[in-house]
Amino acid sequence: MDSPLIIPIFIPYQGCPRRCIYCNEHITAGSPQPPPTAAALKRQILASRHRTRRHPPRVEIAFYGGTFTGLDREAQAALLAPATACLREGLVQGIRISTRPDEIDDAAAQFLRTAGVWTVEIGAQSLVDAVLEKSRRGYTAADVVRTVTRLKTKGFATGLHLMIGLPGEDGAAFAETVRRAVALQPDMVRLHPTLVFRGTELADLYRAGAYAPLSLEDTLAACRHALRAFESAGIPVIRLGVQTTPEMEAPGVVLAGPYHPALRSRVEESIAGEMAARLLAALPVRRRTVLFTAAPTLAAHLKGRKKAQLETLQKDFDLAGVEVAVDPSSPGDVLTLTVGDRTERTGRWGPL
Ligand code: SF4
Repeated sequence: MDSPLIIPIFIPYQGCPRRCIYCNEHITAGSPQPPPTAAALKRQILASRHRTRRHPPRVEIAFYGGTFTGLDREAQAALLAPATACLREGLVQGIRISTRPDEIDDAAAQFLRTAGVWTVEIGAQSLVDAVLEKSRRGYTAADVVRTVTRLKTKGFATGLHLMIGLPGEDGAAFAETVRRAVALQPDMVRLHPTLVFRGTELADLYRAGAYAPLSLEDTLAACRHALRAFESAGIPVIRLGVQTTPEMEAPGVVLAGPYHPALRSRVEESIAGEMAARLLAALPVRRRTVLFTAAPTLAAHLKGRKKAQLETLQKDFDLAGVEVAVDPSSPGDVLTLTVGDRTERTGRWGPL
């Protein structure tokens, strides 16, 4: 199903009980803006609807950044009032907030419901206690499980935010986080790489040699693993990578880490490359010209930037040539390889 059109309202650091070691909201959320009035929010919604080229099934207002339910009730009510007015007028079909797992109890959830909030995104980041402790998040994996379970039983749609490459996290710890997150069955997941931003405690650790960020290649591998696990469980990954801001693009702001403005595309390219390699390994292709056939998006991911991926495949498999045919009628997750009179097909995560 097509994703909703999100009207974001950023409330950087508001309600946060402490500053997490990797967080610099002035960079990730951009310059702070005052929360919109009802009239300004309506204009923003109408403008966003006008600008979008797709036909989203729903429009939702989302409060991001900060810890929404860490604010006192009056502040929450003031932020929600314009959004609730838009909901009642039918301009939007939902309101969502994001918060920490240790900052939302039953009373807070009940308050949100009366204001029309039906989706709560939980900034879990990890589900391994040692990793949470090293990032000084101040809660345990059991707290995350309890909170998400409670919200689900109350009928909220839930989202989980997870990070890749936090201090103290190795491949096994990230795999454990993914396994536990799948078991929790949230309605959606966001995956963010850990980046070293200027002005954070993580930057100090990095400079002192006490933190080494993941490479882009290791991040792509971790993302592939997570995508496979969540997609196989029917859990959509609605974001993969950071939302870039103009602040992030300035020199000296991202000090280290697997920063890529289009990480999801890179992950999709690497998945397409794995599919192609699987097919090439299954047929006698050496010194032959091969033909891949795929739906438009998969074909674009297979080619990669400037057809770089095709060149790598040609070299690795000693091919005489590689051609890619676009077939709009082909299923989006199926790649076909033709060599002479032989044809082989594969799915996104393995043989069909
Ligand atoms: S709770 Fe979220 S917004 Fe607040 S400091 Fe931590 S990471 Fe940043």
